[in-house]
Amino acid sequence: MRIKTRLIHGGIEGDPHTGAVSVPIYQVSTYKQEAVGKHKGYEYSRTGNPTRHALETYIAELEGGARGLAFGSGMAALSTVLSLFSKGDHLVVGDDVYGGTYRVITRVFSRLGLDATYVETSNTAAVEAAIRPETKAIIMETPTNPLLKVSDIAALSAIAKANNILLLVDNTFMTPYWQNPLELGADIVYHSATKYLGGHSDVVAGLVVAKDAKVGEELHFLQNAIGGILGPQDSWLLLRGMKTLGVRMEEHEQNARTLANWLAERNDIKRVIYPGLPSHPNHELAKKQARGFGGMISFDVGSAERADEVLAKVKYFTLAESLGAVESLISVPARMTHASIPAERRAQLGITDGLIRISVGIEDVQDLIDDLEQALS
Ligand SMILES: *Cc1c(COP(=O)(O)O)cnc(C)c1O
Repeated sequence: MRIKTRLIHGGIEGDPHTGAVSVPIYQVSTYKQEAVGKHKGYEYSRTGNPTRHALETYIAELEGGARGLAFGSGMAALSTVLSLFSKGDHLVVGDDVYGGTYRVITRVFSRLGLDATYVETSNTAAVEAAIRPETKAIIMETPTNPLLKVSDIAALSAIAKANNILLLVDNTFMTPYWQNPLELGADIVYHSATKYLGGHSDVVAGLVVAKDAKVGEELHFLQNAIGGILGPQDSWLLLRGMKTLGVRMEEHEQNARTLANWLAERNDIKRVIYPGLPSHPNHELAKKQARGFGGMISFDVGSAERADEVLAKVKYFTLAESLGAVESLISVPARMTHASIPAERRAQLGITDGLIRISVGIEDVQDLIDDLEQALS
């Protein structure tokens, strides 16, 4: 089955009891047992729920892994994955991962004795050099936010395997439609399903897929033990949203390419960052490891004042955090998502005050161009 067909026919189809084509919302907490321990596969909805199970089967199939698990948010998903590790363990983490990822590792898991070193994962040698005897995993995102740096999943997987450690990939930006980290050698892939997978700015959720059944079993143990599960309503919303992931991702990409090319031709923009542009430093790698370049673009308009003007004038780009929805969103990372990073460090990273990030929606691209044109001029 090809990906677009898998998006429609993958996972569990409908309801065997009624023939309903859509998986019903099993709004239930407990299940009748015929005798002690004798049941139809469900005992209590923290442990397992049919609607959530359909979603978990679906994402496992889409990512090509042995087991999928659904959580109440991307952070709940990651926190459960991090609970695989113990006091004294060490992680090598990308230096520009999602802010919440950095926060939960440095301010929560560090208190429980988990140590981490932050390195630029697009520099494979730096990752290798950071590995210690107590290192248990490499955690990476590709492309990163907002600078859209691309890291080589296969090369980092080779390092992980040589050191007998796990490779964890946050696949939020690319989704399984464009990129399959497990096929490139990753052990665990996770998502903020709040973004492209949900796609409609109406649900907060996280998904995890383990390549190996044993790791999947351990993660299910942790999901049940910790309890950060996704409810049946939101599981159903995600199932519904994900059916159109293929058509949405194609449109996001088409619009993003058109906008990136249009921005790159203007002489009043200092820099346009989009992995699909040949000028992007990791363009060839992006082309090699993914089937598309995604819908995120960052560009530098020169100053905070000009960025403010653009934000004030745009009509179709909603000023908001988050990304990956059908509507176009716009933000200024230096003063929004990345405001907690000290100014000096931001400058080092290249997150300038004039840097604008857009999550390109699926509106008519000519309207998006017209809108940016009037806002920039
Ligand atoms: C939003 C996001 C997260 C966190 O997910 P939530 O669903 O907001 O908890 C993690 N990683 C990336 C790349 C994200 O964009």
